[in-house]
Amino acid sequence: MSEVFSGMVSCDHEELIFVQDKSANLRGIIAIHSTVLGPSLGGLRVWNYGSEREAIEDVLRLSEAMTYKAAAANLRIGGGKAVIIADPRKDKTPELFRAMGRFIEKLNGRYITAEDVGTSVEDMEYLRETTRYVTGRNSDEGGSGDPSPTTANGVFESIRVCVEEVMGRDTLEGIRVSVQGVGHVGYRLCRVLHEAGAELVITDVYAPNIEKVEKDFGARVVSPDEIYDQEVDVFAPCALGAVINDSTIPRLRCKIVAGAANNQLKDVKKHGRALHEMGILYAPDYVANAGGLINIYYRDILGRPCDEEAWSPTGIYENIKRIVEISKSEGMPTSEAANRLAMSRIEEARLGKTGVN
Ligand code: NAD
Repeated sequence: MSEVFSGMVSCDHEELIFVQDKSANLRGIIAIHSTVLGPSLGGLRVWNYGSEREAIEDVLRLSEAMTYKAAAANLRIGGGKAVIIADPRKDKTPELFRAMGRFIEKLNGRYITAEDVGTSVEDMEYLRETTRYVTGRNSDEGGSGDPSPTTANGVFESIRVCVEEVMGRDTLEGIRVSVQGVGHVGYRLCRVLHEAGAELVITDVYAPNIEKVEKDFGARVVSPDEIYDQEVDVFAPCALGAVINDSTIPRLRCKIVAGAANNQLKDVKKHGRALHEMGILYAPDYVANAGGLINIYYRDILGRPCDEEAWSPTGIYENIKRIVEISKSEGMPTSEAANRLAMSRIEEARLGKTGVN
């Protein structure tokens, strides 16, 4: 038990709640990292964890990341996350989610859930039968719907800031961008980049997705491994995490890394610094890919459309700009500057100075 507390203490978590319901086969954990900025929000993951310790570590790490993501995006929500220890292919039942929903409801809104790895819009509907604290409802039913378009728009804004900063250009006409992964976000990112006149080099492991982007936007296609060697202005990882690492960094021939994938830096400190020292401008992933969260916040929490107000002046464009300024004035990598910005917003709220939406 002391190990659980030391995990909570090291990242300053507020609450860790273990829930079980034998009749529903539920074994779940809810982690509330911070409610300083507002109720904690984060997805519910269903995963076949190898051990309880793995599940605890995952929920602690993911909930902390949500606090930073929301704070950097200037939203009045905190960070939380929940996990259910179960196989998402075999063990999901309506009763499993109803049981989990009853526990979430008891927290009276201190934790608000959403979709995540292993959960779907349908699962959110079962949760809704027993708790009010669920986001991610279908757009047909007035919910925030698919987050990918707003996520792609946010990445596009991040690329715009970085191109202005590094290349001194306020247009993306003729800018060369390599996109790794053209799924939900990657495809939409390619579309807005194409409309802005950018040249695209893409890769994926799923042929139908490649063909669509090749056909719709005239993108050049390379193999998954070749994507790191492309001579481009921007590299946009939109598939997997940890793609910026010891073996890929020496191969990069780009000026900017800005994409949607979560946890792009294998080691945040080491690889954030390596990019900085090579003069490659990195748009921190959790800032660049916060469009989906911003959409959920406006649509599901505030009940307002996610329009211009959400994007400016407190939107992703301005946030990346601030981070670049902090990085330059403090001589620190943007990955560290992003944490600095998020922490300062949490600290201001703690001291009662508002400055968030
Ligand atoms: P997705 O599954 O729709 O698309 C991912 C694409 O990457 C797929 O086409 C897949 O075939 C491809 N891929 C997988 N392995 C690959 C490899 N080795 N090389 C090249 N391509 C590969 O997922 P998505 O919703 O588009 O999300 C993409 C990334 O952005 C993920 O890391 C996700 O966590 C992150 N993200 C997504 C959102 C969102 O709104 N969907 C929000 C924040 C962060």
